[in-house]
Amino acid sequence: MAIARFKALELAQSRPTVPVKIPTEKVTDYYGSNTFNDEVMRSLLSPEAYLKITNAIEDGKKIDREAADEVAAAMKSWALSKGVTHYTHWFQPLTGTTAEKHDAFFDITSKGKAVEKFKGSALVQQEPDASSFPNGGIRSTFEARGYTAWDPSSPAFIMENVAGTATLCIPSVFVSYTGEALDYKTPLLKSSELIDKAATKVMNEYFSREVSKVSASVGIEQEYFLVDEALYNARPDLMMSGRTVFGHSPAKGQQLEDHYFGSIPSRVNAFMVDFELEALKLGMPVRTRHNEVAPAQFEVAPTFEEANLACDHNALLMDLMNKVAAKHKMRVLFHEKPFSGINGSGKHNNWSLATDTGVNLLGPSTKPKENLRFLTFFVNTIKAVHDYADLLRASIATAGNEHRLGANEAPPAIVSIFIGTEMTRVLNDLENLSEMHDIKLEKGDNVYLRLGINKIPALLLDNTDRNRTSPFAFTGNKFEFRAVGSSANSAAPMTILNTIVANQLLQFREEVDVYLEKGIKKELAIVEVLKKYVKQSRKILFEGNGYSEEWTEEAAKRGLSNLKTAPEALRKYLDKSAIDLFSKHGIFNEIEMHARYEIEIENYIKKIQIESRVVGDLAINHIVSTSLKYQTQLVDNVRGQKEIGIDPQYYAPTIEIIKKISIYTAKINNLVDEMTEARKEANNVEDTAERARLYSTKVKNYLEEIRYCVDKLELIVDDDEWPLPKYRELLLIR
Ligand code: ADP
Ligand code: MG
Repeated sequence: MAIARFKALELAQSRPTVPVKIPTEKVTDYYGSNTFNDEVMRSLLSPEAYLKITNAIEDGKKIDREAADEVAAAMKSWALSKGVTHYTHWFQPLTGTTAEKHDAFFDITSKGKAVEKFKGSALVQQEPDASSFPNGGIRSTFEARGYTAWDPSSPAFIMENVAGTATLCIPSVFVSYTGEALDYKTPLLKSSELIDKAATKVMNEYFSREVSKVSASVGIEQEYFLVDEALYNARPDLMMSGRTVFGHSPAKGQQLEDHYFGSIPSRVNAFMVDFELEALKLGMPVRTRHNEVAPAQFEVAPTFEEANLACDHNALLMDLMNKVAAKHKMRVLFHEKPFSGINGSGKHNNWSLATDTGVNLLGPSTKPKENLRFLTFFVNTIKAVHDYADLLRASIATAGNEHRLGANEAPPAIVSIFIGTEMTRVLNDLENLSEMHDIKLEKGDNVYLRLGINKIPALLLDNTDRNRTSPFAFTGNKFEFRAVGSSANSAAPMTILNTIVANQLLQFREEVDVYLEKGIKKELAIVEVLKKYVKQSRKILFEGNGYSEEWTEEAAKRGLSNLKTAPEALRKYLDKSAIDLFSKHGIFNEIEMHARYEIEIENYIKKIQIESRVVGDLAINHIVSTSLKYQTQLVDNVRGQKEIGIDPQYYAPTIEIIKKISIYTAKINNLVDEMTEARKEANNVEDTAERARLYSTKVKNYLEEIRYCVDKLELIVDDDEWPLPKYRELLLIR
């Protein structure tokens, strides 16, 4: 049996680097060449249709039938010219992956003649036979089917398949016939509209009449692991659950930190170049690649884009990476914690707000007036995160991420905000300002000078303050939400962030208006409200080490939530305050909130259930059986030594090993039985919340206990017999 492991190892070690065909043109020549982008539309559409579609993209205006037909015709001819045979609505159901259902352009007429067909109606709407996508009970209670609808704000693209064919993919939303969202994109689009409305209002009222649109910018840094395909295939746990459920830490892990920013191994480099090339053709601005902290861990980061595009692109990028990795005989692990004992992976979501006039509202400036604007958006974001920290925590709660958040791993489950020394000082100054009624403005007085707001700039601009332990950090001109799981769909947390900040900005406006109505000067009114917010949000600000024990204690004293398990966190979706917030703004209605909760919680249960089964199977069929075989050899050996009269003191240590094998295998046998019982017990519980709790406490604990015994056996049993590729082998990617 062990032969499979060595065969895999041999394959992995002799694997040549797959050469990549690099285009001779410059990146700018092929960037976006596989997308139905602005340039293509301009050249293929009539000026009227072009105007209609740009209105739809920029202002969310509806596209009429005629224009849709014209766009469809143009898309079809463009796609056919590029060898495309099929089209699909491409969407992001709540399974966490992307979904497609391909239809051919090819059709036959009633006379049996072959034609290439693609009408506006097919572009706009498609009915995937998708009754098996998770829906949290929505569609069974309401309408049996859902449909997908074109999202013109994300360009259609051509996905080249390994077989050499290509498919036109049309980014779409996925909704039930009764209108409930069944995907990640729909609520994100709604939240983008909301933040636009709220931020534009604040801008227009207090800072600039010129702004007519504000959008969230998102830049997603994606971490991942790579393993050789043969080794991956020799690890049923990786194949089935995405993570290794067993494996002793290698003698050399990440202690030396020599992998981080080290030189990129050649096979890996080829893989990176290859998928980046494809990504660039698909109009994804990938720019950064480097090794990450753990061995075999890497990162890719694009330049930030508008939130909807950024989230689409991230989902597409993950899909693309999987496809390209197959070509390079590797597997990408997007799991949050594929290996125990070394770092896990996350997805840092960098977030800011940009106006259509080109201003980053979270960018400090050297001009006092602009700084008041910056402070407004900065402080409101902090207040929003303070008020709805639990929702942010819920938005990233999954079985995989549970290994990072709340476990001994970055970042902690406690949501806090790091803002750096300079901004801390600025907020302190702000808070200590005297009551604005006491600020007596003389004629010609500089209000900013009086408020001390002119002092912010220069110091901040070169702020390189970093704190890697914070889940939510201000990094100079953006906030970085670092607690998002590496396998997550970023739209979920970005929907929450957009919504809570928008909600906060609307509230801010109301509060400022109260002062304005009393005839108080605008700047003073704004500062007064911000001051109050700083006071109210103090407890969420934390500059220290987020991993430390002291912080857990301190956070508890401050009354911050520490939701360690995913089920506890997900429950927050059902809080009245959450349901009120989302229904008030039309992001989710109550049914949708319940549905999402159900889906996530079911997901969680299923993941742990799969892991538990994998652990049971592997432990009994691979580990215990191998260990007992090896033990028999040792027993024979001892018997032999005894027979030929060797002094017992020399084989006493071997007897110790034999005993250890007995102890651990017996323990594994018992634990696996108990775990199966615990699973059965949990499965019999009707209530999903309670079932999830049982899985997260009882069942999950067994995984760790069994692992402990298995990892001990790994150190004892003959290396030649050990069936599973070991960590030192898996983590060695060239
Ligand atoms: P790091 O955080 O590792 O120092 P960078 O500062 O280069 O890396 O940025 C990481 C990500 O943040 C990139 O995707 C980048 O495009 C994005 N980013 C930079 N500025 C903004 C911004 N104003 N809004 C949103 N994302 C941004
Ligand atoms: Mg970063």
